[in-house]
This record gives sequence, structure tokens and C-alpha cells, in this order.
Amino acid sequence: MTATHCPYCGLQCAMTVSGDVPGRAAVTARDFPTNRGGLCQKGWTSAELLAHPDRLRTPLIRDDAGTLRPATWNIALDAVAEGIWRTRRRHGRDAVAVYGSGGLTNEKAYMLGKFARVALGTASIDYNGRFCMSSAAAAATRAFGIDRGLPFPVSDLTDARAIILFGANIAETMPPLLGHLRCAAAAGGLVVVDPRRTPTAAAAEESGGIHLPLAPGTDAALALGMLHIAVTEGYIDHAFIDARTRGFDDAWSAAARWWPHRVETVTGVSADALRRAVRILARSRDAGTGAYVLTGRGAEQHAHGTDTVSAVIDLALAMGLPGRRGRGYGTVTGQGNGQGGREHGQKADQLPGYRRLSDALDRDHVARVWGVPASSLPAPGVSAYELFDRAGMDRGVRALLVHGANPAVSAPRSAHVVERLRSLDLLVVSDFVLSETAAMADVVLPVLQWAEEDGTTTSLEGRVLRRRRAVSPPPGARSELRVLADLAVRLGRPAEMFPTEPRAVFDELRRASSGGAADYAGISYSRLERGEALHWPCPAENHTGTPRLFLDRFATGDGRARFAGADHRGPGEATDDEHPLYATTGRILTQYQSGAQTRRITELVDVAREAFVQVHPDTADRSGVRDGALARVVGRRGAMTARVRVDDAMRTDTVFVPFHFPGRGRANLLTNPLLDPTSRMPEFKVCAVRLEAAE
Ligand code: SF4
Repeated sequence: MTATHCPYCGLQCAMTVSGDVPGRAAVTARDFPTNRGGLCQKGWTSAELLAHPDRLRTPLIRDDAGTLRPATWNIALDAVAEGIWRTRRRHGRDAVAVYGSGGLTNEKAYMLGKFARVALGTASIDYNGRFCMSSAAAAATRAFGIDRGLPFPVSDLTDARAIILFGANIAETMPPLLGHLRCAAAAGGLVVVDPRRTPTAAAAEESGGIHLPLAPGTDAALALGMLHIAVTEGYIDHAFIDARTRGFDDAWSAAARWWPHRVETVTGVSADALRRAVRILARSRDAGTGAYVLTGRGAEQHAHGTDTVSAVIDLALAMGLPGRRGRGYGTVTGQGNGQGGREHGQKADQLPGYRRLSDALDRDHVARVWGVPASSLPAPGVSAYELFDRAGMDRGVRALLVHGANPAVSAPRSAHVVERLRSLDLLVVSDFVLSETAAMADVVLPVLQWAEEDGTTTSLEGRVLRRRRAVSPPPGARSELRVLADLAVRLGRPAEMFPTEPRAVFDELRRASSGGAADYAGISYSRLERGEALHWPCPAENHTGTPRLFLDRFATGDGRARFAGADHRGPGEATDDEHPLYATTGRILTQYQSGAQTRRITELVDVAREAFVQVHPDTADRSGVRDGALARVVGRRGAMTARVRVDDAMRTDTVFVPFHFPGRGRANLLTNPLLDPTSRMPEFKVCAVRLEAAE
């Protein structure tokens, strides 16, 4: 029996794996503050992956005829190293890129960043968290000085009687979290902002709360309207604003023009509903019964996602929520290690501990830990979509190493990204199944998966958790830490520079993060083994960690939070006669991310086998499509085909497509790669389409 955590989402539910042989391993839920003994269907079925027939057990190399053939590890690693040397000689160091993942453990994320900067010497590294919650991270950093998904423990939500969720469908994405919102729901204090009547929105309405079904891409207008109401109805917290913030006048300048009837026109949400939502929040705050505002991908995955989240944070600051017990703003992290994955150097501009690659002192500190001159560390690179967009082109990347991600399905403007990936001189994918991206690779390296290796993750509440090896991996698969070390040696670096034991890597990570914003110096495997609940920052072994951030001061130079004063800008593309509807993308209960793992689990596939498009009955009639029939969703960059689900949960101007499916059902064939100017997040959540019958 091995105590560990779920391989999937950022809630990192606790589970026990019984049986140490893959085919006979099973999971049971373990009681833990985040999941309180619960798991969702994805967690319950996660052991099936450990013995799955699709499991990769040997490296693969593409032969001259274009077929992937088994190869030894030595031959495969030699081929990768030779390809890297060749690319560097012809096109320079930055032509070799690394693409990481929020699904990697902290140890792997850290080592991937070090491998890129030290062994490859490339500026070209980014990761799939860029497509997940980079806008929330950018907005939180702008407001508070640092970003931690929830700057308070999940359990703080349990007694709250007012919670506003902006674009977070947690009933499907992390169901055990919904249990923490029961008190708010029972008090009629759950407010869900979402274009769809999702299961979360339905749960709110059925318990006397509110669903605000806004038009896609208008979240900022809605938040500004709420701030307008908070000011005009006297709900703002003047004492908090005066003592702990700067820039309120800028926020009011932006919100003053968003009187409720204007918001109603832009968002489609009634002024009355908007007022009721603000009053729910204010009254629970004033009664001392908890008041929280949370964002999810629905508010964040926009070309103006950072400003949108800033507008939400401005509302929270004006009402005096952040940095106080029983109140707060947070974002609900997506991937299993979405939090830790963005702290340790996979991001194009970051070094471990949230240090900045552009900061001389930060570079010096990390270079000392790594034993290299600071001057040898590359400059910040470009973001994920920008890497893909120019891949294989002049001055673009020519060789790409992908770890734990499946951009062929999950990147925006998918047809273009797939074409760019095909044009690379060298594509290397480390994974444990042949994902759609791995199937395109020149070299595939079979690596270990969740219950086959030790490591740590950092959950959405900033708590560091131990993932433990419960079963033996298949003989042909290797730890990614060893893969990186073996490659680094072939690239001329000494083996001791790249340790392969997770504990040793974590100890190095602690030193690299020491003194940084995400300080892990005091968190050790020994303390985690003793069951200590350690939330970063934890700067010393005698420090008990920081479950609640910002109680005394924010992490800005003067300790005060900053209002952004961001305005609403709307979606990057508008509907017209040819594309009269908006498409919005998202997740469903039984699938996770690109589906590379969950599309292989029988029980999950039985629930949702293929892509669908959710459509209001009136929209279906107007478009000439029938429930259960195939339809084409045609956008400005491509079209996808999916089965129609007629459902009055939808607005009449919007269709919904889940993004977990490959092939012609790829939602990202539609999505807009327009990037947020700050976070470089693409506009996943809104694009213009039309619907037409496919049969
Ligand atoms: Fe928990 Fe998320 Fe795993 Fe479901 S997918 S069991 S909510 S960690």
C-alpha cells in the first residue's frame, strides 16, 4: 500500500495504490484536506494506465520509410544528441527548443529548465502551462507581487457563504472541490459566471445561488460592472484600500463607465442579477461568514486574459478580500503540477523559485547553484505558441524536445501547429504512451509515469506533496531525470551536474529556490515523509510554511497590492454573417487535457467516446443540425466535425466544444492564436464559427 496523489489535476487528491504489480494495482481514496476522501472518475480509474497495452516500453526511431521502429536506448539517445549537435552547428543554440509540462513533477520541471539553460544553452524553452493559467499568474503577480494559485488553503473555502466563480466548472474539472463549496451553496451564495449553464452553474442555481450567463469574452466588462456596483452601493472597503493598496483611482476610472445597464448590453447579464451577485459577496463579507472570488480558465484563456483577471482582482481588492482570513481571491489551477510546474524554470523567462532570467541577482544566484558562469545563461525566450508558430522556419526552432505534453492536440490553430511540427528537422517526444505528438516524432523516448517514480508536486494551494513509486516500471522505460542526464553527458556536460535521484534533485531545487519568491529551502523529503503540511514559502527547516499569504503585507516592494485599472477589450474576433456564432472550448468530467491518457481508459471512454458540439435548440434549428447527428463547426482557421448535443444550457449565440479529442474532432482546429500581450496566452475561449450539417 503506497500513499500518493492523483496523476491528473491540480487538486492532487490523495490516494492509496495497492498492489505493486502494474496489472493488479488499484487506487482507493485517502482522506486529505483537499479531497476529504473523494476522487473523481479520472482518479478512480487512474491505475488502468499503469498496465495499459499502449504503454511504451522501448525507444522508437523513425526509419527512412517513415515508420517508427524499436531501438535501444543508446542508439536513440545518440540519435537525439547527434541531431542536437547538428542543429546547433547549422542554426545556433536557440534553434534547439524544449517544451515542458505542468504535468511533470517539481524535480523534472526543475531539471528540464536546467538542462535547457546549461546543457543546451538555449533560450528556447517554454511549457504547456502557458496555455493553462499564465494569465492568472501574470495578473496575480501584477497585483500582489507573486502568484500562488490559491494564496490560502482550500479548506478555508469550506465555511464561506459567498463564493463567485469566474469561468471555473469545478463540478466537472475537480469534483471533490465542489464539496468545499457546499456551505456557500446552502446559503444561496454560490455565483457562477459562465456562458454555459455548466453542472457547476446548475448546482449554484438549484441551491438558490446565481448563474450569470455572459457572452464569451466579456468577463472583464462583468467584473468592471460589479466594481461599479460595489462603489455606487457603498460596498467598497475604504480602510483596506487606504492601508494596503495603491491605484484605486485607476480602477475606478475604468469601472466608472461600466454602469450596470451598459454591462447588460455588452454581456447579456441582467443588471439585476449583477447587483444581486455583488450584494451576496458584500453581505457575507460584512457578516464575517466568508467571501471569495475565484477565477478559472474561462476568464483567463483570452487574448486579454491578464487584464480580465486584473479586473476581477480589482473587484476583490476594492472589497477588501485579499490578504484577510476568511476572504480572498485565487485561481483554480488546472494541471496536476500546474503550480509547481511554473515555479522552477520551465517558463521562457523564469529561473527556479520564481526567479527572473532578466534579473542579474537572480541569474547570479542560480548560476552559482548550477556551477556555471551567470553570463552563460541565455536571455529569456519566446512563449509556447511563438515557438511553434515559427518551428522549422528561418530563424525559428529546428529541433524540439517535448516532455509530458501533446501540443498536436492542445495548441491553438492546431492545423498550423501540426504542419510546423512536421517541418522540424528533429522532433523528440518523451512520453509513456504514443500521443498524437509522439506519433509524429523522429525519436520517441518511453519514460516513467506517476506511480512508477518518486517526486513531488505542488498543489493549487501551494502545498508540496510527495508522489511515491508504488509499482515497478516496465524494464524498457526510463526516468526522465536519467534521460536528461544521459543527454547532457552526450552534449559535453559532466554526469554529476545532472543528478538522477529525485531526492537529490529536490535538494538542489531547494538551494536554487532559496531566497526566491517560491522559496522551498525549508521543505525536505524527510519533513514531507513525516506528513508535515508545508506550503511555500518555507525558507528554513524550522519554518512551518505559509498556508496563507499576504496577511501582513503583499509581496510588492512596499507591501501594498496594486490595482491594475484594466478595461474591457472584448474578444479578438467578432462574429459576422459568415461566422455568426461564438465557439468556446473547455473540459468534461471524464477527460483530462489533450486526452492522451484518459482517452485510453475504458470506463472514461464509455462515457464520452468522441468530440461533441453543444448547441442551443434554437441555434440547432437555425443552423439545420440535428441532435445526435454530425455537424461541422467552421471557423476562420479551420473546421472540426463533432456530434451535435442539443441543450438549452447554451446561449443561442454560442456553441461549446471540449478540447480533449484528436483528429477531425480537435477543438483547436478552430481556436485563435492571438496572444495576450502580457501572459502570451492564446485566445482559447472564444472564436467566431458557423455550424452546418455534416451528413
Ligand atoms: Fe482529484 Fe483532480 Fe484526480 Fe479528479 S482528476 S481525482 S479531482 S486530482
